[in-house]
Amino acid sequence: MQAGAADGLATSVVREVLEETRTRIAGGAEAPGFDEIAATVAGRLSALRRPQLRALVNATGVIIHTNLGRAPLAREAIDAIAEVVGGYSNLELDISTGKRGSRHSILEPLLCRLTSAEAAMAVNNNAAAVLLALSALATGREVVLSRGQLVEIGGGFRIPDVMRQSRAKLVEVGTTNRTRVRDYAAAITSRTAAIMRVHSSNFRIVGFTESAGIEELARVAHEARVLLLDDAGSGCLLDTTAYGLPAEPTPQASIAVGADVVMFSGDKLLGGPQAGLIVGRRDPIERMKRHPLARAVRLDKASIAGLAATLRVYLEGGAEERIPVWRMIAMPLAEIERRARAVAATIGTGANVVDGRSMIGGGSLPEESLPTKLVAVTPGRALTASKILGSLRARGVIARIEEDRVLLDVRTVESSDDGRVGAAVMDALAASQGA
Ligand SMILES: *Cc1c(COP(=O)(O)O)cnc(C)c1O
Repeated sequence: MQAGAADGLATSVVREVLEETRTRIAGGAEAPGFDEIAATVAGRLSALRRPQLRALVNATGVIIHTNLGRAPLAREAIDAIAEVVGGYSNLELDISTGKRGSRHSILEPLLCRLTSAEAAMAVNNNAAAVLLALSALATGREVVLSRGQLVEIGGGFRIPDVMRQSRAKLVEVGTTNRTRVRDYAAAITSRTAAIMRVHSSNFRIVGFTESAGIEELARVAHEARVLLLDDAGSGCLLDTTAYGLPAEPTPQASIAVGADVVMFSGDKLLGGPQAGLIVGRRDPIERMKRHPLARAVRLDKASIAGLAATLRVYLEGGAEERIPVWRMIAMPLAEIERRARAVAATIGTGANVVDGRSMIGGGSLPEESLPTKLVAVTPGRALTASKILGSLRARGVIARIEEDRVLLDVRTVESSDDGRVGAAVMDALAASQGA
């Protein structure tokens, strides 16, 4: 008899549970009943059959939420990915000649047009972009960096460690709070390969501070005939000041003032798939493309398709309407309030609408927030906010707690999910009350 795949899984789980039960009995434990064994098998099987990575509703109000997968994609990107991944594509085929093509040629023209750079490429993420840049352009040589920019991005990605890994020698200049242009100029020697700037994405130094602008750094680098590498972090292509936020450096501005290589993430403020985008002058970018690490950190066809579609939305001028992170940033307060009131009304007793702040998040614009309207759920008797939060999480809705209230921000919720949010809160209240 041929067992199907599902039968195979069930059989192996039954065997595994029986084996564990026998071992426990041999060790002196009491024999479980049939029902208990059956329940263990059923529980383990349903956990295995459920997708491990599932869609969630982000009601935290943190727009680029690292734990929740950073940027949600635009419809255009989702469609482009779906079209390409189920079959074959011209990933490395030049359709006009029938000869072998390069996957770089898909994104390069779009990135160059958006940033006015001479050349471009894309890799797996921005961490990979920085590692590749240092490995290809500065191995065995010195890279000058401000002490105020020796940062840890998160997940153990620390600039000094990445330098060591790429065998570039870090030359620290200035102090934590103040680094001047002449500090860089004084550190340049015949062994220097580059000056590097790292965007302080996830922290701020305030008070008695001074740092060199990218324009001045470009001038110093070029006078000394070394490269200027710019880890721009977020990859923000739009002007954030139009939304009441502080100015976020843009890759196109770095290119305009003469940075040789600019690196940024695809899935932070750019609002596309996970990627590290690299734009700059032709010579350093070609050296990066030819480096052996480039192959190890290359981007797959799904991400290339999604990124190309995302970049086209920018080129057509539709980013604010069609890229979800920008739609969320630009969402009018009146619209948020209307939706929050509708959600609060479905919940009824215990829910009201209060003023609050939505966060940009994701290592972009730290501390920066936008005014919002929150649905606040106050736990009744015999209930705690953290219990409600847990029940919501089990129902696929992620919220937050402040002052023993559960807060939900519809800014980061697709409006078609508003009903689901209201229903989940009602279920959570009923379930917690019953428990
Ligand atoms: C986020 C960030 C990185 C890492 O980018 P990933 O795409 O997450 O790998 C590197 N540098 C800066 C300045 C960042 O903000």
